[in-house]
Amino acid sequence: MLQKTSHYMRQANLIGGEWVQADSGATIDVTNPATTLKIGTVPKSGRAETRRAIEAAQTAFQSFRKTSALERSKLLRKLHDAIMDNQEALAELLTMEQGKSLTEAKGEIGSSAAYVLWFAEEARRAYGDIVPSPWADRRILVTREPVGVIAAITPWNFPSSMLSRKIGPAIAAGCTAVVKPASQTPYSGLAWGALCEEVGIPKGVVNIVTGSAGEIGDELCSNPLVKKITFTGSTEVGKMLIEKSASTVKKVSMELGGNAPFLVFDDADLDRAVEGAITAKYRNSGQTCVCTNRFFVQAGIYDSFVKKLSEASAKLKVGPGLDAGVQQGPLIDEKAVEKVEEFIADASAKGGKVLTGGKRHALGGSFFEPTVIAGATTDMKFMKDEIFGPVAPVFKFETEEEGVALANDTEFGLASYFYTGDLGRAFRVMEGLKYGMVGVNEGLITTPEAPFGGVKESGLGREGGHQGIDDYLDTKYVCIGGLGL
Ligand code: NAP
Repeated sequence: MLQKTSHYMRQANLIGGEWVQADSGATIDVTNPATTLKIGTVPKSGRAETRRAIEAAQTAFQSFRKTSALERSKLLRKLHDAIMDNQEALAELLTMEQGKSLTEAKGEIGSSAAYVLWFAEEARRAYGDIVPSPWADRRILVTREPVGVIAAITPWNFPSSMLSRKIGPAIAAGCTAVVKPASQTPYSGLAWGALCEEVGIPKGVVNIVTGSAGEIGDELCSNPLVKKITFTGSTEVGKMLIEKSASTVKKVSMELGGNAPFLVFDDADLDRAVEGAITAKYRNSGQTCVCTNRFFVQAGIYDSFVKKLSEASAKLKVGPGLDAGVQQGPLIDEKAVEKVEEFIADASAKGGKVLTGGKRHALGGSFFEPTVIAGATTDMKFMKDEIFGPVAPVFKFETEEEGVALANDTEFGLASYFYTGDLGRAFRVMEGLKYGMVGVNEGLITTPEAPFGGVKESGLGREGGHQGIDDYLDTKYVCIGGLGL
């Protein structure tokens, strides 16, 4: 392990600027999914530690909210530089706990830094309004103020970058934060604490607790000092957090599950579509919320598409993320492998044909072969449920209307993709897809400049783009009267 990596691997929680253990001394083991060996522990904190973290954030908020936008922007720039200066070490830590290839991990750390830089810039542009007044002697001002203490809960699939979209806008807006990273990948979350300390972000502005999800979540949702909950994770947990936050009427931002369609029309550039399909399917071993869950291919090119996709999938190099040249690491755990096997068994029983892959990889553990299934039909499980693994089911459709209707036939609405060479069709399909994000002839579209988020049961609010700071600000209308004008 790089020396710097061990520096960032914090086995403690950060509360009010102090690195502390759980009150009970209890810990959670963290394992490397590539080896299944334990790499360390983190505190198993609960309600009491979370309450203290919230109180520390509330105390810090009293002074942090008064800092100027320029000061906060400079802090975020320093944070960006610290992340990039330690990109290698942070990526190694991420691969060790999460499993993704080192190349993808470096990409994720780069993306974290890019979001922080974006919000360093947005901090200075959180404009209000001066509104033309209907009264001769009064003036109308609309200002924007930080909401206060925010709580962030994040998943294991992007343990660093999911936090950058929450810590970045929180600091930019002048909020303070209590963060709960996923228990399987807590170190990339805790590393944010070390980085914030290094660049001089005041104590208590960012607090990080690990441990019992239910207890921490309950305190974050019910504590009146917390003004906003921002969550990335499953729709199931998201719905529960919305319900629990209702009693104190918190703002909620939810980045939830997806069921991304990827349509390929007869007039598409086939090689480009296959290249996009590989990226949109197998990134992070298929474990991203924007990964293609269902491929819909028009009848005229169906056979050539599945052949090319199978060949390209079979060539992917599977192995431990830290090994050179590896393109697909292990799945997060055994449960994830069993879930993928269920999807394949269900499809096979209903007439689907496995063209490549279809089973556990010879490397053992939670490694799985990139898999392509032809002859997918709408009664198969993956039509409705998120696979979250390296399985590509390919459905056939005849007309554009049918393709779009199939793509929309889900309660989710996060990312979608389609490939066509026809400009008119590009607009028709783009406007017909009920999704928060659409990639047209592109399979990888996430960037800090653009608003990321979903419609329907995929979530509420947007992260990134100029919209990404909105949920961290309250709007205040000020009417100034008696001006004697
Ligand atoms: P998850 O089970 O919902 O867990 C996400 C986070 O919620 C973890 O920190 C987890 O803690 C915590 N959590 C679990 N139960 C909780 C409770 N009762 N109260 C409070 N917090 C609780 O999701 P996951 O399996 O880690 O992540 C995969 C899901 O995230 C997929 O559905 C994926 O599509 C979605 N996702 C969405 C986006 C997006 O931007 N839309 C991005 C990435 C992932 P523990 O780890 O301690 O259990």
